[in-house]
Amino acid sequence: MRDHALTGVAQVPAVPVQVGPLATCSDPTCGLFAADARRFHADSVPPTGLRRWSGSTAMMLDLALYPSADTYVKAVSKRSRGNVPRAAKKAARLGITCARINPDGHVASLAAIRGSKRFRSGGPVLAAWFGGRAPGEDTCVAPEAPACPDHWTLVWGAFLETSGGPRLIAYLALRRVGDLCRTFDLMAHGDHLGTGVMKLLFLEVARWLLERQDREAQGVRWLMYGAMEHGAPGLHEWKRLLCFTPAHLLFEDVPAAPPSRAA
Ligand SMILES: [Zn+2]
Repeated sequence: MRDHALTGVAQVPAVPVQVGPLATCSDPTCGLFAADARRFHADSVPPTGLRRWSGSTAMMLDLALYPSADTYVKAVSKRSRGNVPRAAKKAARLGITCARINPDGHVASLAAIRGSKRFRSGGPVLAAWFGGRAPGEDTCVAPEAPACPDHWTLVWGAFLETSGGPRLIAYLALRRVGDLCRTFDLMAHGDHLGTGVMKLLFLEVARWLLERQDREAQGVRWLMYGAMEHGAPGLHEWKRLLCFTPAHLLFEDVPAAPPSRAA
C-alpha cells in the first residue's frame, strides 16, 4: 500500500454510501446514475476476500468532519504546512477566478487543455497524442441547472484574465450520485500548471460543497477522488495533502418512498 500510515487492508474503514434514487427523485436518469455508480465501484476493493489484493481503494473525504469551508482549508493548511492554500492564493493574485461552466460552451478551450501535455500524474493523455485542436472559438453558453439536484455532473472552470478576455485554463468535473460525489475529470493547461490553478480550483469547489448554499450541494456526505492505487506517487501525495483517506464503499439501500396517495 502506498499510504505508509497503513499497515494492512484491515485498517481501511468501510463507509456507507446511499446513491439512490431517492424518494424525491423524479427524473428517469437518476436510476441510471445510481446503477452506473454501483457498476463503477464494482471494481473497488472489498473489505475481505482475495480481491482485496487486486482491486482499487477509493480515496474519500468525509465532508461531515468539516462544519465550514474554513475548517477544511485549515485542515489542508495544517497537512500541507500551508503550501496548498498559499499556492491557491498565488493563483488568485494572478487574477485567476473560478466559476461553473457549461462544457458545451468551451469546446475549443477544453480541447486545448487536454492537448497541452502528453503525460500527467495520472498517466499519458490520449488527446495530447492523437487529438487535434478543436476548431472555432468558445461560445461560452451559460451552465444549466441539472434535472435532479441529487444526481448530476457539473463542471467548474478556472479563468485567467488576458488581453483578449478571460481564458479557460483548467476544469474540474464532479459527478454526484446521492450522498456520494466524485471528481469525474480534472485538468489544467500545461502552460499554467505552475500558477497554483488546480489548488485554487479544488479549494473553491470544496468551498462550494461545504457551504451548502446551492440545493445541488446539500446532502453530499462523501467526496471521492479516484483510487489510492491510481497514478504516480505525486498524485497520491496531492490527495493526502487534501485530507483524502482510503476507504471501502458500502452501498446502502435508500429507505423506500412512502406510498403515493395520488390515485
Ligand atoms: Zn435524483
